[in-house]
Amino acid sequence: MPGFDVQQFRQQFAFFQHHPDWVYLDNAATMHKPQAVVQAELEFYQISNSNVHRGAHQLSQQATALFEQARSSIASYLNAARVHEVIFTSGATAALNQIAFGLMHTLLQPGDRILLTQLEHHANIVPWQLHCQRHGVIIDVVPLTPDHSLDLQAYQDLLALGPKVVSFSHISNVLGHIQPVAQMVALAKAAGAVTVIDGAQGVVYQQPDMQQLDCDFYVFSGHKLYGPTGIGVLYGKTSALQLLTPLLGGGEMIEQVSFVNTTFNKLPFRLEAGTPNIAGAVGLAAAIHWLQKFNNKQLQQHKAELLREFYQGLSHIKAVDILSSPVHNAGIVALNVDTEHPADVAVLLNQQQVAVRAGQHCAMPLFSSLQLPGAVRFSFAAYNTLDDVNRSLLALEQAIEILT
Ligand code: PLP
Repeated sequence: MPGFDVQQFRQQFAFFQHHPDWVYLDNAATMHKPQAVVQAELEFYQISNSNVHRGAHQLSQQATALFEQARSSIASYLNAARVHEVIFTSGATAALNQIAFGLMHTLLQPGDRILLTQLEHHANIVPWQLHCQRHGVIIDVVPLTPDHSLDLQAYQDLLALGPKVVSFSHISNVLGHIQPVAQMVALAKAAGAVTVIDGAQGVVYQQPDMQQLDCDFYVFSGHKLYGPTGIGVLYGKTSALQLLTPLLGGGEMIEQVSFVNTTFNKLPFRLEAGTPNIAGAVGLAAAIHWLQKFNNKQLQQHKAELLREFYQGLSHIKAVDILSSPVHNAGIVALNVDTEHPADVAVLLNQQQVAVRAGQHCAMPLFSSLQLPGAVRFSFAAYNTLDDVNRSLLALEQAIEILT
């Protein structure tokens, strides 16, 4: 296998041709799309556009075939046991909302417990909270150790309380730390809990194998996997999906409707109300096909090299306080500059055309536990280069010189 050629990889993203002067290190927020994805969406609208599952005409049948092929491609990428275990949603947030709502009406009873962690994205906190408060379900939270890893001893102690559901992220969107998900799923299953993994940041790091991981649910958004916005996946084992009461009603999710009794369609349609994002699904499948042309190990090695260089450069910059560990890190570094507000640092980086995110990154409970107002986040992707690393380090030094 030839080595990874970052320039060749990067050339496939028109965005960089339009913005040659920018260093884009906000990949944890959203990634850029290769031409293959843009083209697939464009072609869908130009050539194949029709609604799915409902037309009496051949054009609708062709659009349906494309949509269902997209589902099959994603199911096969995830190594799902059955194609209907892939439910299309608008993103990870919508998927987590569906799971929280759906389980609340079937599995969870007042007094039951669910287990989350201190570093979750709000999308894996608020949907649970919305329903837990109303249904009298208790939320326990796994704390962090002083090096900002999950406290696995505390995790086991909290599992001993018998939570019905355990939900945690594959990779922290703030710190970049890769959680020991296989071990955490095994422990949760041994404790009898339904397992939910927020793979919003995990899916681009590793092709997740659902049958091997054996979790009940795994969710992600297309736009963090080189795919379009507005499309995401709720993977669930058939038995787990059957536990979900639909959050949304209407469209293809029904079997029979009457004012007396409405019955629901079979999976996956039962959980896909309304016209789906057909072009988005086709675009996401195109992203996956495109990604499979590369060796993921090489992509991750390239990112790890960028991270090493970045940490190396940071070690020569004095005022920096790094929150992310370089160990088990998928390519995200959160840091602060002395007591300067992260937003001020980001403004100065922006002036030098370095795109990062600053603030609490939709993880306020994490920052409360760290007693920090936020952090500046540098998140790397396989299309970033060593030049990006060097330019961002220089820009950071410049910002620090102005601020301190
Ligand atoms: N979970 C994690 C870990 C994330 O990083 C994000 C987005 O940043 C989400 C969930 C929500 O994803 P979306 O806004 O695409 O629904």
